[in-house]
Amino acid sequence: MSDIFHNGRFIGEAESADQFIHAVKQKRRKGELPEELSIRYDSNLDTIFIATDTGRILRPLIITENGESKLGQEQLRSVEKGDLNWNDLLKQGVIEYIDASEENNLLVAMTHKNITPDTTHLEIDPIAMFGLVTSLVPYANHDQSSRLNRGSKTQKQALGLYAANYLDLIDTDVSVLHYPQKPITRSFIYDTLNFYPAGQNVVLAIMAYEGYNMSDAIIINQASIQRGFGKSTYFRSYTSSELQYPGNLKDEITIPSKDVAGYRTEESYAQLEEDGTIFPEANLKEGDVVIGKVSPPKFLLEMEEISLAKSRKENSTAVRQGERGIADAVFISNDAEGRRIIQVRMRDNRDLEIGDKLSTPHGQKGVVGLIVPEENLPFTATGVKPDLIFNPHGVPSRMTVSYLIELLSGKVGCLKGQVMDGTAFADQQVGDIEKELHNLGFRYDGKETLYDGVSGKPIDAKIFIGNMYYLKLKYMVSNKIQVRASGKITLLTRQPIEGRAKGGALRMGEMEKDALVAHGTSLLLKERFSSDNVTVHICPACGAFGIKDKIKKRDICPVCGHQKLEQIELSYASKLLFEEIMALHLFPHFILKNKYDEN
Ligand SMILES: [Zn+2]
Repeated sequence: MSDIFHNGRFIGEAESADQFIHAVKQKRRKGELPEELSIRYDSNLDTIFIATDTGRILRPLIITENGESKLGQEQLRSVEKGDLNWNDLLKQGVIEYIDASEENNLLVAMTHKNITPDTTHLEIDPIAMFGLVTSLVPYANHDQSSRLNRGSKTQKQALGLYAANYLDLIDTDVSVLHYPQKPITRSFIYDTLNFYPAGQNVVLAIMAYEGYNMSDAIIINQASIQRGFGKSTYFRSYTSSELQYPGNLKDEITIPSKDVAGYRTEESYAQLEEDGTIFPEANLKEGDVVIGKVSPPKFLLEMEEISLAKSRKENSTAVRQGERGIADAVFISNDAEGRRIIQVRMRDNRDLEIGDKLSTPHGQKGVVGLIVPEENLPFTATGVKPDLIFNPHGVPSRMTVSYLIELLSGKVGCLKGQVMDGTAFADQQVGDIEKELHNLGFRYDGKETLYDGVSGKPIDAKIFIGNMYYLKLKYMVSNKIQVRASGKITLLTRQPIEGRAKGGALRMGEMEKDALVAHGTSLLLKERFSSDNVTVHICPACGAFGIKDKIKKRDICPVCGHQKLEQIELSYASKLLFEEIMALHLFPHFILKNKYDEN
């Protein structure tokens, strides 16, 4: 007897597990049970698990019986003619949806050739083993799986046209690529999905260039940028609404007058129009007010004696720290409660610059290391100059063979003027691509003699040069770049605050310290680590914190009464720690030692 559980609840027993499961599956295939139902047998527990709950990911598989696929030639022909569609195949019990737990009891054949009498199911296409994004990678079956994981992550970060109505939208933190292109070498999935492209085709040479493409850095042709490679617009929106407060008080969108508490500078309001909002196409820099607003005082008591105007607070919305742009559009509307709401969209042109991140779908990501004037770049015998130079050392350790195949196939596609099929597992042979390239009058392996752009002399080594698809990722240096001298500190620890948006610092942790030590810059280290420096007075007799009484001009230890104190320097954060320990009724004490004494 096997126990049966449905969605985790015991519902009964079955005489024979095999017969029961077979019966349930037959009913499901006939449509008498829901097609999303899954059934699994656990032989260790001798238990049958039936699941109909939500959140299980299902995928379609072709059913096979007695070593034969149910999707025969006859059905395939009707599908081609359009007489049969997906739902018909589901109803006829040719295809069924399987979840991860049921798959444990199945034997799934990858292709027709692999079907044996024990096979229960057949993959619709081997590419179905990938997710949607990964199936877009050309020649993905030649890549290492972990690279495909990374590649699918970077594809999701690629800039493109995220929505065709982006001009009517107010989105925070989005970018639009100006000249997106469809890839020359692409998987057939790409065309079935029919979405907006998110990348551009480039001429790429695999070589080192003047040491500026160490590791994963990339060299970019300046002329390519001028022709629009990697050009994008970044959008940021600012919102402000007029809130109502008790006592018939409300916010007011206006240009704040000078007597308002917290008035910025006259210059920061200079570009506001009379209604307190920015005018479209205004050039904005950090700190410029885009929506002027004044709010009533928070506490009514405050205003009892002072006039209402005097006690009003400035509450404007200004351009964030480290950002700039042009006021793109101003939207004025009312929200559900009838309050006036102002939304301002700011745009910023982003040309590709040093530090911007680019990637391929093969998980080969890197930042721009140098932008080279076109005339200094190496060129081929026909005068082709690369848009992008990639370091050869990036290939062997990553084992992204499909990157190389895409480069070769892209070259053939460009020369022939046709789209190349790079669908994974589609059985394209590299040899065929090489043959085609040879027929087009090029070396079969894609290598060419390149001439140095500066000296004009041929480069000794043959360089692998071809065409492939590159993505600009949403992480751009201008959003990341951060600098500060002195500035705000946190009240509790007196250390500099952290974070770019707040005008804070970069944290110097243990590992960053080691990097500076290794670099031999210990003076910088001393300066950084004394950001919360404080002088304290210690009693040499008992080691407690003493009191330096400047008015009565005397030093005294509150614990033992000793009258002479020693000065030491330490960070305020550690002083705080000692005080917190003292709050726990523990007595931490310092044992002082002259720093010039030995031992
Ligand atoms: Zn003492």
